[in-house]
Amino acid sequence: MSATPPNSGAPTGPRRWLGLLAAVALVCGGIVYTVEQRTQDARSHPVVVRTSTPTPGTPKATKPSKIAAAVAARRIAVDTILLRRAQAVAAGNEPLFLADLDPANKKLIAAQKILFANLVEMDFGELGYSQAEERFDPAAVRAHGSTTYLVRVLMRYQIPKVDFTPVTTELGYTFIARGGRWLLTDDDDLDADLGPGAHREAWDLGRIEVQRGPRVLVVVEKGDTKRGRAIVRAAAEGLGEVTRYWPRKWAGSVFVIALDETDVRDARFADEDIESAASTGSTFSSLPGQDTADGTVAGGYIVINPNERDRVDEILLSHEITHVATADLGGYEPLWLAEGSAEYVSWRGIEAISGPAEVGKWEQEVIDEALPQLSALPTDAGFYQNSADVYGVSWLAVRYLVQRIGLGNVEDLYEDLARNGNDQAARDRILLTRTGLTEATLWSALATYRPQR
Ligand SMILES: [Zn+2]
Repeated sequence: MSATPPNSGAPTGPRRWLGLLAAVALVCGGIVYTVEQRTQDARSHPVVVRTSTPTPGTPKATKPSKIAAAVAARRIAVDTILLRRAQAVAAGNEPLFLADLDPANKKLIAAQKILFANLVEMDFGELGYSQAEERFDPAAVRAHGSTTYLVRVLMRYQIPKVDFTPVTTELGYTFIARGGRWLLTDDDDLDADLGPGAHREAWDLGRIEVQRGPRVLVVVEKGDTKRGRAIVRAAAEGLGEVTRYWPRKWAGSVFVIALDETDVRDARFADEDIESAASTGSTFSSLPGQDTADGTVAGGYIVINPNERDRVDEILLSHEITHVATADLGGYEPLWLAEGSAEYVSWRGIEAISGPAEVGKWEQEVIDEALPQLSALPTDAGFYQNSADVYGVSWLAVRYLVQRIGLGNVEDLYEDLARNGNDQAARDRILLTRTGLTEATLWSALATYRPQR
């Protein structure tokens, strides 16, 4: 049992919102750009007509309809390829999965063999791909020739017992026409223009191994079996703690990714998340910009910092799983409440094993040492960069609220703020209605807080 306070940061809150905003901007910008470019592209590259049978002696005036027919034919051809690839995964048929690859791109073929094996190993309950909009990239045309068709592709999947609704992630595929057929020639030309975490899913990054528990799925590097099983056990314990100490009814399952990779999904352990042991990111049933600006969050996956993989335990995981359990609520809750609640759950787990003395000692340290370093509740802006113990103070605020209004009411407060706390006025109104306090008076109350021991 470690006495070290769990101190893992998750990219919830402002950073997540910034990521979402960036994604929306990219998606919207991309569509506008593409519509203009598509017309231009069709005009300047009538060679796409190659897929339709040219009618000899057709007058020039019918050219636009020929282009439209070629675009429609290309759409059907690419849809067919995407369908075939999904069917190949379901059937475990590697030759079928590789059948539409450009035979000249040996590197792509090798990578796609690994991708295929990974997708089969994930054992999706549902898997499908669909074309979103075309994107125009002069560099891709230079690299792949005049028939280049660069398209954003939506991958829709459902992992049994993890995703309770199908979720969507995005990819960018480059197709070319050769010898009268369309071929997939590249899968990363669009990566830089996609949303955060696109083409960085667990199965996109090298050969993986999946370890499963009843409500736990863990992905590790191929052959890292022992670690995978240990994380399954720790995650099952962490899941039990969240179920015991956080009263919200939720799906109650967890997906943990522990690869030797610094960038997985929207976790960035090489730069902004470098100090974090783990990070919880969102899955989307509808991506930001797809149906609504914010998208629809379906749940969350946990990504472990590669440098911390040896130190994964139920304390760390119960913190992260609390974020997963609240991921689909809306994300408007203040960070002090999100991180404070996650700390609350993991410290309840410690208390159950070590007894209340350990927790009491830590609580007193936060009161004596961390609290005087701040003059208000930690704000969302700069939360993860703050050198003061903002996790400890956030935990103290949640402990205080539990003492004042009870755990069930704190959970209701969390849910209301996560759904509706989109600005400070709304947050203060919700907090005041449910606790009799504003953030300012909650802070003053903490200064005179005497824990009941
Ligand atoms: Zn956290």
